[in-house]
Amino acid sequence: MKQFAIIGMGRFGTSLAQTLYSLGNDVLAIDINEEKIAAVSDYVTHAVTGDATDEQTLKSLGINNLDVAVITIGGDMQASILVCLLCIELGIKKVIAKAQSDLHARVLRKIGVDKIVFPERDMGMRLARNLVSSNVLEFIELSSDHSLVEINVPEKWEDTSIMDLNIRAKYGVNIMAIKHGGVINVSPKAQDVLEKGDTIVVIGTNEDIRKIDSRAKNHK
Ligand code: ATP
Repeated sequence: MKQFAIIGMGRFGTSLAQTLYSLGNDVLAIDINEEKIAAVSDYVTHAVTGDATDEQTLKSLGINNLDVAVITIGGDMQASILVCLLCIELGIKKVIAKAQSDLHARVLRKIGVDKIVFPERDMGMRLARNLVSSNVLEFIELSSDHSLVEINVPEKWEDTSIMDLNIRAKYGVNIMAIKHGGVINVSPKAQDVLEKGDTIVVIGTNEDIRKIDSRAKNHK
């Protein structure tokens, strides 16, 4: 169980806070708006109305003892930057922030924010990838070149073992897991056979993954 502070109960912050709490984590929700706090109070560990740009407020909440702070304030860029800076100075191990623009992200990066997210942009990119890749079910970008994807087994690969397909050499990707029915094999062996209806989790370069996906489409 981890301890999180989520600062800003907009749509993104609220969804994040409620999900973390439902997954069994300790969640401190902070917002300047009393109504936003009232709406979320039943779904988090602690919900506090307060101005997070006020150092004393953050200190009195013992925020420095938490593992992660996520600052989701969007519209007020100045407040977002100030709260991030205070969280970093108070010694929170990991500070994550939502950015509204590239300039906003650049400032956050400069002051030492560990991770910056653009929820609308990220979700838009993710959805676009899923829409154009008929076979890709889930897509996680590991870097600008590499991704991890969950993909339906291409028809051409059905009833063939990983060894016979020679996947690593021929396609340049690695199969990390095979999902067969409700069972997940997380350490696939060379002799494991891919079957119709299986899904596989594959890691590789975006280019190699694209090739597999277009193969799958051609064989539909
Ligand atoms: P979303 O798209 O997630 O709904 P948004 O990008 O529109 O959010 P805002 O509405 O600007 O972001 O901010 C999110 C929340 O942060 C709001 O509920 C707002 O009341 C809260 N907030 C803004 N400034 C502060 C502050 N100084 N301290 C605490 N909360 C704040």
